Amino acid sequence: MRPVQYQRLTMLFNKVIKASVRAGVQLQRYSSPASGVAASHSGQPANIGYSFELTDEQKEFQKLARKFAREEIVPVAAAYDKSGEYPMPIIKKAWELGLMNGHIPQDYGGMGLSIFDNCLVTEELAYGCTGVQTAIEANSLGQMPVILAGSEAQKSKYLGRMTEEPLMCAYCVTEPGAGSDVAGLKTRAVKMGDEYVVNGQKMWITNGGKANWYFLLARTNPDPKCSTGKAFTGFIVDADTPGIQIGRKELNMGQRCSDTRGITFEDVRIPKENVLIGEGAGFKIAMGAFDNTRPPVAAGATGLAQRALEEATNYALERKTFGKAIAEHQAVSFLLAEMAMKVELARMAYQRSAWEVDQGRKNTYYASIAKAFAGDIANQVASDAVQVFGGNGFNSEYPVEKLMRDAKIYQIYEGTAQIQRLIIAREHLGRYMK
Ligand SMILES: Cc1cc2nc3c(=O)[nH]c(=O)nc-3n(C[C@H](O)[C@H](O)[C@H](O)COP(=O)(O)OP(=O)(O)OC[C@H]3O[C@@H](n4cnc5c(N)ncnc54)[C@H](O)[C@@H]3O)c2cc1C
Repeated sequence: MRPVQYQRLTMLFNKVIKASVRAGVQLQRYSSPASGVAASHSGQPANIGYSFELTDEQKEFQKLARKFAREEIVPVAAAYDKSGEYPMPIIKKAWELGLMNGHIPQDYGGMGLSIFDNCLVTEELAYGCTGVQTAIEANSLGQMPVILAGSEAQKSKYLGRMTEEPLMCAYCVTEPGAGSDVAGLKTRAVKMGDEYVVNGQKMWITNGGKANWYFLLARTNPDPKCSTGKAFTGFIVDADTPGIQIGRKELNMGQRCSDTRGITFEDVRIPKENVLIGEGAGFKIAMGAFDNTRPPVAAGATGLAQRALEEATNYALERKTFGKAIAEHQAVSFLLAEMAMKVELARMAYQRSAWEVDQGRKNTYYASIAKAFAGDIANQVASDAVQVFGGNGFNSEYPVEKLMRDAKIYQIYEGTAQIQRLIIAREHLGRYMK
């Protein structure tokens, strides 16, 4: 039985969604890319340009996600971190409330939310526990290639089922020998009649052991001279296809309730209907998804940093040394000020990058800036929070030690901190070298 408050908020949320569906619009910030017309809070067109104000609807589901994180995730996060158990009960509740899979288009039973709106939800969930948030976000990563490149039949079959029950999916690209260097993937798909036969090994796949289906990237052109942009193909693969062997759950430093595994493909037969776009289109599809998924990863890192800032602030106001609260020592208050500056800027960065892609513009530059910056500051802010807690910060009875462990992965997955800098430098210099 769901708490009454949630039922009320869910009803409100559904009302907002239905109203927006009736009006033929998606929930997003003021300006609509389709019409270029801006709408005010009252729904009337208004000549609004730059604004930091969320719409009433956005505030409502931010509130819903915030309440959910504080009441359903925070109380159990430490226990899930210790046990490493997959947080399916929380995921089911989040699914019931519409707090996951938000970007599945309305045509396939989803809510068709913008990347910006999804990011607002992601930041709140990450505040509760980024292990839970990563498990949820891995669905977005797995779904994004299908949303961007799937045929009507593929979307209807694979996205549609995720709106009917709380299923997970996964993005299956990295291999033991190739992470940053995606062009080095060895997994091979060979066409045989109406099927492709896949052999190879994938590694570090989030939701690997829980997914109902995978987005898979495999090499279809064996010629080493074939360009990366043409050598790979993207597939949708049902997880119960014979020949798929799922490895053990990896024991990671942080985000321990998220399910990360290696997956082996041995003579796995995939029907040709499950190819995305066509043979050779896979690399662009796999990389293109990141423009849409890096903003939410940055939002997750921001949520973690916000949590660290809040925990440190509350502790600094309580803990006394030398006759006063440690927050009254300038060194500590300045540390908190630095942490606050970083959190605010990370939030602006992810919101800008999400807004750009929602406008239909190429946001690669902004998405990498947001991902790199938010990932870095999540680590700095979590480490500073441990510092503010002193000895208690080093102990697992207090929440900040987990935050510090959880933060690290934001500098690694979805493109490492170094790879983001390569992308930013390329985009930046490209503007000068034309
Ligand atoms: C918990 C977890 C979950 C993950 N989830 C997924 C998932 O769902 N799906 C998926 O496909 N993958 C997933 N990954 C894989 C992840 O994206 C890769 O680990 C990451 O891209 C780095 O690749 P790598 O581990 O092979 O490191 P490497 O590429 O070997 O890099 C090692 C180091 O070298 C640096 N480096 C590499 N190349 C360069 C360069 N050209 N210039 C400068 N520095 C460089 C890197 O920044 C890094 O510091 C996950 C990983 C983890 C740990």
